[in-house]
Amino acid sequence: MDYTVFIQERKGGLVIKPNKNKSISGKTENPQGPGKGDVCPVCGGYFAASCIRGLSTCQTCGFVMASVRPQPEQAAVLYGEDYFHGDGYADYAAERPALNFNFKEHLKRILREMGNATGQKTLFEAGCGFGYFLELSRGFFKEVSGCELSPFAAGRARKAFGLNVQEGDVLTLPLSGPYDVMCMWDVLPSLAEPDKVLARVAEALAPGGILALTMPNIGSRFARISGRFWPLIHFPWRVGYYSPETITKLLEKSGFRVVYVRPFHKTRSLREILYQLVALKFRRPDWFHALERLPFMKVLVPMGFADEMFIMAHKA
Ligand SMILES: [Zn+2]
Repeated sequence: MDYTVFIQERKGGLVIKPNKNKSISGKTENPQGPGKGDVCPVCGGYFAASCIRGLSTCQTCGFVMASVRPQPEQAAVLYGEDYFHGDGYADYAAERPALNFNFKEHLKRILREMGNATGQKTLFEAGCGFGYFLELSRGFFKEVSGCELSPFAAGRARKAFGLNVQEGDVLTLPLSGPYDVMCMWDVLPSLAEPDKVLARVAEALAPGGILALTMPNIGSRFARISGRFWPLIHFPWRVGYYSPETITKLLEKSGFRVVYVRPFHKTRSLREILYQLVALKFRRPDWFHALERLPFMKVLVPMGFADEMFIMAHKA
């Protein structure tokens, strides 16, 4: 059965309304309805509708997925220029100081895990956006490279930093591994087939190689209290909603040994926080537009909700 999600229209960085000319459709595998009978990528169990509209929960392991899952060929619609300036962020390029603040923390954790012996090592980032993390990391590794689904973002990464970034996804691209480190920052939740992607990542990693991930934690207290108002529910871009238990189970099934899962306090600019909450979540771009004129919009704010997690794993 087909389901269609209308993407919100953007004008000057503001979300206006769902745009019927620009939509993506998703298929569920069972004709009974959304979320009934889909096979869980974590355990092979079956989904049933969740108490949150648009989400389904695996009846066996509790993994949560969006009932509508975009087809891979619809990625071009989802991750065009609008994603970085409207659909996903108010302005991704302007958010670079906040993004880099987080990326430096991720890099420190990876370096610590490797005992700082990185000089002869290689790193690959799947879903590298504009290449900010690769640019930060390149001085610490023999070679850094990445891939990015969005041709717009991949082009920016190559042009701005001269990085080795391929256009496309991990599943279909020829990867020139084995890599010593692979990382995905909030990428796994966007994937409708995370099990297949992780199997491919395991193939491309060197024996004992490191996989570092970040993603929202639907098992966190803040997510549970917020329910359907949890700001990190983001259709149709985010389709998988993990808890420490489900991501650990999926990684172990895919050939990884999880070293730790820790809360990660993401830092964002005040402007971006207001955009995500007011314009995207509550669909009041007019309120955001009034608020963004206030001073201090560039201030970086660490989010103290502990509703995101950092996962460190090794290839088993
Ligand atoms: Zn399951």
